[in-house]
Amino acid sequence: MSALRSAIDELASVPDEELSDEELDANLGEVAHARDRLDVLQTRWMRLQSERRGHDRLGYSSPTAYLKDRGRMSAGHARRIVSMANVMVKASVVTRAWSDGRISTDQAGLLLSLVEVVPEEFAAAEEALVEIVEPLSVSDTGRALEYWRQSVDGPGELSEETQLARRGVSLSKTMGGMRRVDGWMTATAGHALETALETLMPPPGEDEERSPGQRRHDALEDLARSHLDHGDTPTVGGEKSHIMVLADPDALKGIAGGTHESLDGEVFDVETIRRLACDSSVSRIVFGPQSEILDVGRKTRVWSPAQRRAIIARDRHCVEPGCDRPPDWCDIHHKTHWADGGDTSVDSGELRCRYHHTKEHSRQARAHLRERRRT
Ligand SMILES: [Zn+2]
Ligand SMILES: [Zn+2]
Repeated sequence: MSALRSAIDELASVPDEELSDEELDANLGEVAHARDRLDVLQTRWMRLQSERRGHDRLGYSSPTAYLKDRGRMSAGHARRIVSMANVMVKASVVTRAWSDGRISTDQAGLLLSLVEVVPEEFAAAEEALVEIVEPLSVSDTGRALEYWRQSVDGPGELSEETQLARRGVSLSKTMGGMRRVDGWMTATAGHALETALETLMPPPGEDEERSPGQRRHDALEDLARSHLDHGDTPTVGGEKSHIMVLADPDALKGIAGGTHESLDGEVFDVETIRRLACDSSVSRIVFGPQSEILDVGRKTRVWSPAQRRAIIARDRHCVEPGCDRPPDWCDIHHKTHWADGGDTSVDSGELRCRYHHTKEHSRQARAHLRERRRT
């Protein structure tokens, strides 16, 4: 430990002006690397400390409380280290790659977060996963691992149905009429809101004085005002989908593991992709092996305006028994998904409000799953 301290002292004593540009760049890389290696040690020793119940002996309620105080860290930071310490022995390949500096602490954290979610699958795939994420950035690592998790675990805890159950936004009036906004949005609703806000939030100029939160507030107000001014709610007869997703043919059939994400890289589960594609314009773009675009198909409206009007006239409102949401709140659902060969005719479509549309797709997905298990 004293060798470590004096090595750091020596580095710190070099005056800034003596560092060449190349040295500066090399040093920053080395420091990041050294930090990651120290992280491995810290995590390993925290594991030992909890095994020996050091926190108990020293009067702390938990390993996290101990580390938070000892390292003067935020609770979140301490919690992350402790949870990595708890699972690192179950992931020896990850731990080795992390100690060798082949993957960073952030990448190791993402890998270790899967150890207890899908234990058997993780153990079987650990080596391959480390190899896959090694050359990737942290965000690409997260994306690759989320794809892998969905391929072995399905939507799991984050299924659309769970998200729907948890959704809710509160808007409460406080002193002076100020409002407090708080809540949870589903992945698709949140993505739609983000996309809308982004169009209203140009990149900040040099003399921008507003914080990101204040700019978001102002964009939300613009959104509300423009809605009130123009009053053009999206309707069933009009152009609908403003969400762009990338999906391969397998994803549209409900098979995970290929491509199913938004343009900016948020991974949606395949059932969400199927629901979005159930009533929206679909364009076909064929990519070659080097991601070059080979062909762009015509954008085809799945339901023609005439078919939409006929279905609205027949159903009047959401077809779910007991639900009378009007057409403006509804999608037109394919009773048999077009990706599964269902046709697009007045007979094969029905009005479903966004909520019951999602419910119906979850119901179908569960039925599919049962069928696949039987065969
Ligand atoms: Zn549908
Ligand atoms: Zn409904």
